[in-house]
Amino acid sequence: MTNATPFVDARPLLTAPTKRRDAAKFTASGKSPQSVAVIGAGITGITTAYELALQGLSVTVFDRNPDAAMETSFANGGQLSASNAEVWNKWSTIFKGLKWLLDPGAPLSMSLMPNWHKYSWLGEFLLATRHYERNTVDTVKLAMAARAHLLRMAADEGIDFDLEKRGIIHLYRDAKSFASAQRTNALYNQAGLERFAVSPQELCELEPALPDDLLGGFFTPSDMTGDIHKLTVGLARACERRGVTFRWRADVNEVAPGPNPTVNWTEATTNQPHTDTFDALVVCAGVGSRAIARQLGDRINVYPVKGYSITVNLHRPEDQAAAPWRSLLDDDAKIVTSRLGAGRFRIAGTAEFSGYNRDIRVARIEPLKRWCEELFPGINQRDVVPWAGLRPMMPDMMPRVGAGAAPGVFYNTGHGHLGWTLSGATANAVAAMVSAPVSA
Ligand SMILES: Cc1cc2nc3c(=O)[nH]c(=O)nc-3n(C[C@H](O)[C@H](O)[C@H](O)COP(=O)(O)OP(=O)(O)OC[C@H]3O[C@@H](n4cnc5c(N)ncnc54)[C@H](O)[C@@H]3O)c2cc1C
Repeated sequence: MTNATPFVDARPLLTAPTKRRDAAKFTASGKSPQSVAVIGAGITGITTAYELALQGLSVTVFDRNPDAAMETSFANGGQLSASNAEVWNKWSTIFKGLKWLLDPGAPLSMSLMPNWHKYSWLGEFLLATRHYERNTVDTVKLAMAARAHLLRMAADEGIDFDLEKRGIIHLYRDAKSFASAQRTNALYNQAGLERFAVSPQELCELEPALPDDLLGGFFTPSDMTGDIHKLTVGLARACERRGVTFRWRADVNEVAPGPNPTVNWTEATTNQPHTDTFDALVVCAGVGSRAIARQLGDRINVYPVKGYSITVNLHRPEDQAAAPWRSLLDDDAKIVTSRLGAGRFRIAGTAEFSGYNRDIRVARIEPLKRWCEELFPGINQRDVVPWAGLRPMMPDMMPRVGAGAAPGVFYNTGHGHLGWTLSGATANAVAAMVSAPVSA
């Protein structure tokens, strides 16, 4: 555990490129790495592998699934949203959350079973309220910087991922929350994001599918939406073309820091154990990152915060006409939507603190369907695909991007509710750190 380097969170990535002299710390030999392992093939792992491959490194990706984006990066809300970058560590949000715990239909639910990981995480979540403003502003900036990276990757590789550049509308039906949102909007503007209030009439002009009885909203013209699964899988194929090796169905059981990091993994189909050694290792394992980090001498306190989505398949022309094209965020219901091409309407939300299970609970899916029925009654919901995934959430909601304690160990993980939005920037940054040339 020599060369202990503190984690770099999102902030320095915006202002300070990796310094050449820092790179000498990052491998045991003091040389730039040639071979790099990436653990995890979700959006963070695949964008990292892609950026490392562009740097000319020999990259191997490990994932326990048979292909990319089969866990949290499968069917999320679709929003590339600087306008939703506010961290949740705010007292008014916490008090609202406490009230929601008593309501089974509310956007938040929590199992009260004693669990050290959960309660220690919640303790750190409360402490992070001190940094609410700073962390919100920094996340907004990172989200804005991330767009260009993700769009570059998609354009360079010719990936169609149902991108819609139509902005995001935040909706309000409650006067108190609309007033509080005005104050939050000042933080977004301070970070440099163009996000402005709109009247009920302007809401209907922006999105004619909306009902006309809303109180008002905010509009962020530069935000976008797209299908995370399509982009991640498309980028995985691009990685293959660029020589990245994929170890699918590879359960990583044990990692060791080394002098050179070692990955011990089992192939699920044959149950065959393997050991591979690399110059460097990047942990992008979503909710699996905490367990892996512990073996490497690092603490990455990711907690799995479960969320749900439904994808409504819009078969008839009437359904397609009734569904909004512009992305929505209903701030009172904590529900987000994305139009994924003409034929699909994605609705996502809820935060459930119930450990690592991915069960799809009907009681959590029903509020999403009800919300759709209330706002868009013209959509026929006969073909609805439900899904649940685990957000890899840090207590302060800031992703961990940078070097770990041991040489050659890096992290790009803990992106919580914004992994789709932020991953382009964090992958680019961590790849620059891993591959930085050693100064003479
Ligand atoms: C309901 C919902 C809605 C959301 N909406 C949005 C949104 O609108 N906009 C946005 O920006 N973000 C959104 N998010 C968040 C976003 O989807 C996540 O932050 C992102 O997908 C996380 O990506 P990841 O690569 O960190 O994790 P994952 O996609 O889960 O990838 C991690 C990979 O690591 C692998 N792995 C882990 N441990 C091991 C091991 N030991 N061995 C082998 N493989 C391993 C897993 O198999 C997995 O494939 C949403 C999330 C949810 C749940």
